[in-house]
Amino acid sequence: MTNYRIQAILDRYEWERRNIIGSAIRDEYQVLAPTTVARLTNEEYLAPPTDSPLGSKVIHITDMGDFCTCKRKWNWSSMLRCGLQPSVTPVPLFFGSAIHFALDHGYRDCIGDEHAHFNLKRALGAFKLWLKGHIKKTIEYTGPLWEFEKEKVDKVLNLGAAMLRHYSLWAEPLDKLFRMIGTEYKFRVPLPGFERHGLEYAGRFDGYIEDIASGNRYILEFKTAKSIRSRRSGGRSSNIAGVLRGMQSAAYTWASGQVYDQPAQGVLYRFMCKDAPDMPKPLQRGGYSRAKTIKSSVAWFRWALKEIAVDKVITSGEGDAPPPGMLDAVYASELEAAAGALSVLRQRQELQAGLVIGNEFFLQVPMRKKRLQLDGALTALVGEGKRMTSPDQVVYPTSGFHCNWCSFKTPCDLIAYGHEDQVPAILDAAYGPRTYWEPEVQDEY
Ligand code: SF4
Repeated sequence: MTNYRIQAILDRYEWERRNIIGSAIRDEYQVLAPTTVARLTNEEYLAPPTDSPLGSKVIHITDMGDFCTCKRKWNWSSMLRCGLQPSVTPVPLFFGSAIHFALDHGYRDCIGDEHAHFNLKRALGAFKLWLKGHIKKTIEYTGPLWEFEKEKVDKVLNLGAAMLRHYSLWAEPLDKLFRMIGTEYKFRVPLPGFERHGLEYAGRFDGYIEDIASGNRYILEFKTAKSIRSRRSGGRSSNIAGVLRGMQSAAYTWASGQVYDQPAQGVLYRFMCKDAPDMPKPLQRGGYSRAKTIKSSVAWFRWALKEIAVDKVITSGEGDAPPPGMLDAVYASELEAAAGALSVLRQRQELQAGLVIGNEFFLQVPMRKKRLQLDGALTALVGEGKRMTSPDQVVYPTSGFHCNWCSFKTPCDLIAYGHEDQVPAILDAAYGPRTYWEPEVQDEY
């Protein structure tokens, strides 16, 4: 991916990075007693408002997203209303959740270490475990998988494994800049000034990190994306700009001041493209293809060449006890054979400007927030929260591109086609009580 494509996404945020560096966010936001913001158990996090010890009304960032996008979807899914989720999620739609689970486990071991380090082995194990659990749940509900469904699961397994491996190679040098303070932190905090209304704000930090050089803290937020390219570049649909423009970063930054002694300066987003890089393609005349269409990165290519070298050593019959230095020699000759392909990949310069780093597979963007923005986020949270908790809130559909991945499309279509009477039966048969706050369906950003 060329620089200008990613730069196009980032241009409009340049002002923000310029203006915010060095700004202090703090003080009046650190007002709540720690007992109200202790790390929650899953049950506490999921507790519906009426069961809350505070008798509160919980405003969740994902719920708010649904509320702003489509009131009908929100009405079916929100814990403030029907609190439903699909009983079974189709394979492509649960992928993002499995990746998040794997990333969380991959970073757990390094909490408190000198610098962050992604444990690939643990992440791969967690990814497989998550899928296994989900497939088991699906089989319990629908019976054994069809052959094509098994193939889809295999595809997802291979894609996830390749993405996580590629991520570990890409993130390794970047992670050395940060210290991991915590992963997967679910929080629920009262909205200041509205305690008597019982309004609380809930969310989940994928990670909490410290920039070793500056001592600044950031909330780490992962997003899976269909593509890193933006619409402006003429590529496939990509809504990374929308995520960066959204209020999540300001709202989470404000919440970090309620949860941690040292609040975050903002959110460090890491976008991951749902795509696997190509393996090196050997040519009959020797060497490797240097076609410009190859999807890869230098780090991945070098890793793949090492794997090829290991295979060659094993098939040479010297696998058990190869002579000292043999693997290094084979690897060096593969690197030499791939010099042309590697130079093509190097020409696709990766974007790097401070902490903004990206290629066609991954993009890291820090969103620093200043006090004015936190005030704005707080006002929006309270305003939307009051509307969401009002019994007078009207429910109506708002159709658009987002309907393509709406998990309530079937009952919604029934209403559109005049079969409203069948909706309760569908909701009863294909949906159950909501058991999570984070969306199992990761939007195709
Ligand atoms: S399909 Fe579209 S209009 Fe219908 S509930 Fe879902 S998001 Fe709303």
